[in-house]
Amino acid sequence: MHSQHLPVDVETAVATVPLWIDGAPADSPTTRVGDVTNASTGAVVRVVPFATAAGVNAAVEAATAALPAWRATPPLRRARLLTRFRELVERDQKKIAAVISEEHGKVFLDAMGELQRGIEVVEFASGAPQLLKGSYSESVGRGVDAYSRLEPVGVCAGITPFNFPAMVPMWMFPVALACGNTFILKPSEKDPSASLILAELLKEAGVPDGVFGVVHGDREAVDAILHHPGIHAVSFVGSTTIAKYIYATAAAAGKRVQALGGAKNHAVVLPDADLALATDALIGAAYGSAGERCMAISAVVAVGRVADPLVATLAERARTLKVGPSRAEGMDMGPLVTRAHRDRVAAYIDAGVAEGAELAVDGRGLRVPGHEEGFFLGPTLFDRVTPDMAIYQDEIFGPVLVVLRVDTLEQAIDLVNRNPYGNGTAIFTNSGGAARRFEEQIEVGMVGVNVPIPVPMAFYSFGGWKQSLFGDLHMYGPEGIAFYTRTKAVTSRWPKDDVGPSGLVMPTLG
Ligand code: NAD
Repeated sequence: MHSQHLPVDVETAVATVPLWIDGAPADSPTTRVGDVTNASTGAVVRVVPFATAAGVNAAVEAATAALPAWRATPPLRRARLLTRFRELVERDQKKIAAVISEEHGKVFLDAMGELQRGIEVVEFASGAPQLLKGSYSESVGRGVDAYSRLEPVGVCAGITPFNFPAMVPMWMFPVALACGNTFILKPSEKDPSASLILAELLKEAGVPDGVFGVVHGDREAVDAILHHPGIHAVSFVGSTTIAKYIYATAAAAGKRVQALGGAKNHAVVLPDADLALATDALIGAAYGSAGERCMAISAVVAVGRVADPLVATLAERARTLKVGPSRAEGMDMGPLVTRAHRDRVAAYIDAGVAEGAELAVDGRGLRVPGHEEGFFLGPTLFDRVTPDMAIYQDEIFGPVLVVLRVDTLEQAIDLVNRNPYGNGTAIFTNSGGAARRFEEQIEVGMVGVNVPIPVPMAFYSFGGWKQSLFGDLHMYGPEGIAFYTRTKAVTSRWPKDDVGPSGLVMPTLG
């Protein structure tokens, strides 16, 4: 899947991943810590302190103190700082990718790609002066003008998942900062190191202390964020159960909230599809990053006679994928993020067999010599899966691809639409008419036509439908700007001799 270059070495001297408050590493008043592992070896490489409400409060105080000066900084100046930040991320891209690869387990080039997609959001946010233009209407009444201002929301928080430890935070904070907000990140406790490097680079770029903070932890820190009166907006990306909780709790506390949840992304393959192209795309989309992508294809809907040849080519390719340490040369797939997650995914394979699905490729027996304690699981393919099976209904979030067989495009569309998730989907076909019908009728937020992972570019917005997103606005792009700004509508009249008093009747300006 990848041509490989060797990554630079990871500095492993850091024993504890600190919080980042007021522009500096900070301790947290806590006795609870989490282990951060090297996913390829199973070794504990760092520990991360779990912040209490006191740690969150310290970050909020710093973000609150920094807010007035930051929001008064001209958008052009904020944009220039973000441009400088982008240059620094590019300078240190290999170092950041190496630490992501180590802690998460994705192969190095995949981690480089994750950063690239994050950098694109920084590029988008660097257009802040253009993005923050309000609208203006001259003479809505005699001598009266009306215009809108886009103002920051205040102190914003982001709570992010393990699977993109740099990119998902970068969906949020560059846009929030460009709009004049300050931002507190609560990254995943499973791979927290990249967030600290990003914090250091923001400081080096010249972003003032307190504008960006990092607190680590689990539910205790998250609850402190959700209930803190000094936080005005919460962005979340993670699993659906937690997304629902975040949405309900933050909204009840009066905060603006967007909460992106889990996914079960289907690819529909029609009989007229280019089989080689579809196979190649599906292998990458199902097994890249060991299936731990929110936009991974985890279900293939094979329509009609394409099923037998498609399953045959998928199985052949899945068996030849190279699985090994994430930083070794030439690997297609690394390990999963933790031992517990690997075991959970393996249990789904057991369940699929018990439920009667046909196991075409079994990844459970995989051994990686010299890395017996790493969290590895090989590519797995199930055929003749039915919608009542747990391997179809649940988000497995691992290298497990399930194939369902239907007879028609209508049945395929119906199947996808009955699924409670609605993050991404793709159709493979050479028929423009079929693709257009799919695009129109499918109830999913992001659609690919012969493109397996249709992650929108930074100048569009990312978000799913149904159980994949709670809230009104998608992330980054124009909807990100809308999320991180409040609109103020101004109606303005400058007293002149020829304008009379307003009177007591309902004002009509004309
Ligand atoms: P997760 O829901 O377990 O954790 C996400 C965040 O919530 C982490 O920061 C975690 O510390 C925190 N958290 C965990 N349990 C909590 C609790 N009980 N209360 C409050 N906070 C809690 O998700 P994950 O395992 O880190 O990431 C994988 C999930 O994220 C998958 O479901 C995947 O589909 C989803 N995801 C979705 C998108 C998207 O765009 N929709 C993108 C990436 C990942």
